[in-house]
Amino acid sequence: MTGTPETTCTTCPYCGVGCGVLAMQEPDGSVSVKGDPDHPANFGRLCSKGSALAETLSLDDRLLVPQVDGKQASWDQALDLVAERFRASIAEHGPDSVAFYVSGQILTEDYYVANKLMKGFIGSANIDTNSRLCMASSVAGHRRAFGSDTVPGTYEDLEQADLIVLVGSNLAWCHPVLFQRIEAAKRARPQMRLVVIDPRRTATCEQADLHLKLKPDTDVALFNGLLAFLNECSAIDERYVGLHTSGFEEALEKAGACDIKTIAAATGLAPQDVALFYSMVARTPKTITVYSQGVNQSVVGTDKVNAILNTHLATGRIGKPGAGPFSVTGQPNAMGGREVGGLANMLAAHMELGNADHRQLVQTFWQSPAMAEKPGLKAVEMFRAVRDGRIKAIWIMGTNPVDSLPDADGVAEALRICPFVVVSEVSTAVDTLAYADVALPAAAWGEKDGMVTNSERRMSRQKSFLPLPGETRPDWWALAEVAKRMGHASGFDYAGPSEIFAEFAQLSATGNNGTRDFDIGAYSLVSEAAYNRMLPFQWPRASALDEGDSRFFADGGFFTPDGRARFIAVTSRAAPRLERRYPFVLNTGRIRDQWHTMTRTAKTSRLMSHIGEPYAELHPDDAEALGIQPADLVQVESPYGKVIVRALVSDRAQPGNVFVPMHWTDQFAAKGRVDAVVAPEVDPISGQPGSKFTPVALKKA
Ligand code: SF4
Repeated sequence: MTGTPETTCTTCPYCGVGCGVLAMQEPDGSVSVKGDPDHPANFGRLCSKGSALAETLSLDDRLLVPQVDGKQASWDQALDLVAERFRASIAEHGPDSVAFYVSGQILTEDYYVANKLMKGFIGSANIDTNSRLCMASSVAGHRRAFGSDTVPGTYEDLEQADLIVLVGSNLAWCHPVLFQRIEAAKRARPQMRLVVIDPRRTATCEQADLHLKLKPDTDVALFNGLLAFLNECSAIDERYVGLHTSGFEEALEKAGACDIKTIAAATGLAPQDVALFYSMVARTPKTITVYSQGVNQSVVGTDKVNAILNTHLATGRIGKPGAGPFSVTGQPNAMGGREVGGLANMLAAHMELGNADHRQLVQTFWQSPAMAEKPGLKAVEMFRAVRDGRIKAIWIMGTNPVDSLPDADGVAEALRICPFVVVSEVSTAVDTLAYADVALPAAAWGEKDGMVTNSERRMSRQKSFLPLPGETRPDWWALAEVAKRMGHASGFDYAGPSEIFAEFAQLSATGNNGTRDFDIGAYSLVSEAAYNRMLPFQWPRASALDEGDSRFFADGGFFTPDGRARFIAVTSRAAPRLERRYPFVLNTGRIRDQWHTMTRTAKTSRLMSHIGEPYAELHPDDAEALGIQPADLVQVESPYGKVIVRALVSDRAQPGNVFVPMHWTDQFAAKGRVDAVVAPEVDPISGQPGSKFTPVALKKA
């Protein structure tokens, strides 16, 4: 068959870089993909995962029809039951007896409807998301310092910087296209310097001019020392600090003296490396600090974020070309979820759940019968509440918590005893489905339409180019249908995602008057055709005709009551002492070619051939002491559970540490499900789990 392929401009569903993808469908139905040369995130580049997207579109392992108690049901039967059970629980036990646990995989419109239903119509804030595992410490740190969850920089800054400091980020594997942009910029300007701060020597370190292999969770000591050093060598921007910030002296006092030897001892680094790093930062105005899960996934994650932000505020290196702090998100729509209030402590359009004026404004806009008045339960606490019976009905959407949350066996037990569990899902390879009373078949990438926001605040469309298979439906539709069946017809009568987006955009501008960061333009008058033609843009922008603003805070304008950024005085805490029984630190994370719990990426042999099974990366000295040879099976055990995986003996790990990738579930590797081992300890401010620091025991299996 010959003919011209039909090309759809869409966005990759895998990571927070948010690359533009051209999906080309041939007349025979086959699909191929390539990078969109016009998309400002990637300019035509794709990584291994993005370029394999077309290989993952088969309907193998797809959930295609609704199920009730494991048996095929009609949508009406399934939706009626969900509405009835949620309504009954709310009537008997109150609105906080129900919960939604959603995902950075769902689209902004899905997220918006879920938030509206839970916060404005059910009247609880028990809606949280797997973005809690990814970004919550960064959100909390931004809000403490800037008064809002605003990422100041853009991807261009990575190319314009003279010094890039990557903290807790294996960018080469986890945000590959951003790393490719840095590599290209470094080739064009060899004087550009790259410092990597990471307890492991990762693939990213191959391009580094300096690798600081610090002890886990000692980042606050390192950045507090940097703040003191910048002060001692007169690198403080006194004008910026005086005009646009508060709390500098307190933060400086808490940071303590810049005693390189003491900092080196605390962080496990060589004194000369600490001194070199500090002097590189001090003499380089165009410094950008990029950080990711190694910072966020920590019980001191929010303090780490603020220690980094303090150094940028002190030097006025923020919101300027090539200079600023830059948090990169893990998931494709972690940012979009935050925009519509997808965390248990936020409201839509970056408004605050704790602010009575904001609650009133949103309730009036929604004309809703209720409004949550207190923050809901964050991810880890939410499943604790399921387990102890406070939550009696939960709807899980687009995520697999029995494999991906810490203490995964505890989560599975919680769902086993929960009176009513709904799971909206694409894949039957998701273990959480085994606990569902009602399973709802969701539309997948390529079949659904909506918006996502990437790490630089750029909103892009995901577009459908395939028909909905079987009886699958978009998540916003299932939510709206349940809302109507719960008696809320007027708030949820949407014809499609363009109407939902227009409503959200209108809310972003309502009562705004320039006092909030978040305004994406009044799309309420925009037609569906215009929504479909919408090009990627960065928020904020005052109208659909604006280009959008690219950077924040170069001239202050913070979203605090006095307009000043707040230095946060943070103290370096000693890492917890390891018990004799659990003497190693377990660190978990991603690998280059896998995504989440592998339900999509395991469909292609190309991606599976990169690393075929889970492994424990440990130092040769530790391996020798334990009698472990390369490729032996090793057991990694904590008080919560254990895994048995292949030993990868390498000095990339530091002694006393072990790294296990997060992706494998028992479906893909028996006993390889590492989140069963991870402790459910969280940062007390952000609620984000410390997934990179679990004390464990290691032995040959
Ligand atoms: Fe997709 Fe991220 Fe790769 Fe871009 S870098 S193609 S968004 S996985």
